[in-house]
Amino acid sequence: MDYFQLKNGELYAEDVPLERIAQEVGTPAYVYSRATLERHARVFRDGLSVLDNPHLAFAIKANPNLAVLKIMANEGYGADVVSGGEMERALAAGMPAKDIIFSGVGKTKDEMRRGLEKSIGQFNIESEPEGIELASVARDMGLQAPATLRINPDVDAGTHAKISTGKAENKFGVAIDEAPAIFGRLAGLDGMNLRGVAVHIGSQLGMLEPLEAAFIKIGALVADLRSAGHNITHVDLGGGLGVPHKEGDQYPTPAQYGAMIARVTKDWDVQLMFEPGRLIPANAGVLLTEVIRVKPAKINPYVIVDAAMNDLARPSLYDAFHDFAAVKPNGEKMVANIAGPVCETGDTFAIGREIDSVSAGDLTIFRTAGAYGATMASTYNSRPLVAEVLVDGDRFAIVAERINPETILAAEQVPDWLTS
Ligand SMILES: *Cc1c(COP(=O)(O)O)cnc(C)c1O
Repeated sequence: MDYFQLKNGELYAEDVPLERIAQEVGTPAYVYSRATLERHARVFRDGLSVLDNPHLAFAIKANPNLAVLKIMANEGYGADVVSGGEMERALAAGMPAKDIIFSGVGKTKDEMRRGLEKSIGQFNIESEPEGIELASVARDMGLQAPATLRINPDVDAGTHAKISTGKAENKFGVAIDEAPAIFGRLAGLDGMNLRGVAVHIGSQLGMLEPLEAAFIKIGALVADLRSAGHNITHVDLGGGLGVPHKEGDQYPTPAQYGAMIARVTKDWDVQLMFEPGRLIPANAGVLLTEVIRVKPAKINPYVIVDAAMNDLARPSLYDAFHDFAAVKPNGEKMVANIAGPVCETGDTFAIGREIDSVSAGDLTIFRTAGAYGATMASTYNSRPLVAEVLVDGDRFAIVAERINPETILAAEQVPDWLTS
């Protein structure tokens, strides 16, 4: 459930009419609801309350806005980060360094050094060469790097190919059959405190079965590693739970997820860690956009909105569905395509969809835009970098300024040798 609802025939974010935000901030703009973010953070935590003191690290790539991170920090979440830039954001939001997990296949030595300097809680290593490098960086600093080895369990998550991460052919983690040998070699390195394993099989998962299959394999691996004499104290079960994008969508609830994990991990005797991303912000954000015009076309008219694939990339990247609604619906419906102004056919949000009837100048929203939305925005076609707004009850604030093309142009230079 979220707090973007109709009141007296117009859409509000909590107690603020979206029209007011459009008037004061302009469009397109992402609008987040604080109450929804907090609600989702608590629902996830409550779902895992059947477990013993789980460590919760918000996968901040889903929504790294500083104000959003502040809310997550206040809710007691740490961060799962995948770059030095994300690590700095988590620290800037006041998340304790010990609650930060560093994931990703391409950590550089500089990023490792910075993480060790800051005493972050854990590195999730994705390959043997990376582990060797991390140990050597830590050793040079006179430190031991707290780490887990990310396992690729070769499980099909049943989600879109571009967000599947746990199949053998994906770039993530080490193959589960090679894991015991690699673990053994890395655990013996000076500078390395290899204390467990990690797994994350994909995103927007609609079923618990692939997760359960992966976790059962991880449980067997933990037992193998222990019988080989390793001290396994931490297991990171990643993120990946999907979210509904339209009415009637059925997704596993955090409570069902928690119950499954409690059952599978009953005898593990480890600190469990989680990296939820999408689940928390996705339905806590909408993309507010204005209809530029309705372009007649052969099959269905095109509703051309002032948001485009550079603002919300998910439909063009993964064929994602975003529910579309008029801010002031007139009660009529129309069948239309929805597209942005960018000069790419991929800049299309929907084809032949029944939507609220709209015309030029009307305000509209794309729902479920709070995760992997603004964070993927670009300035393609020399468009502005989209603004972000946070609503809290009857007040709102800009939490990321719109960056105009002039500002971006000002960072470019023509070398002398082109002008003389
Ligand atoms: C992206 C990512 C997550 C979060 O995935 P969601 O589907 O957004 O929950 C968690 N862990 C790792 C390692 C990731 O790369």
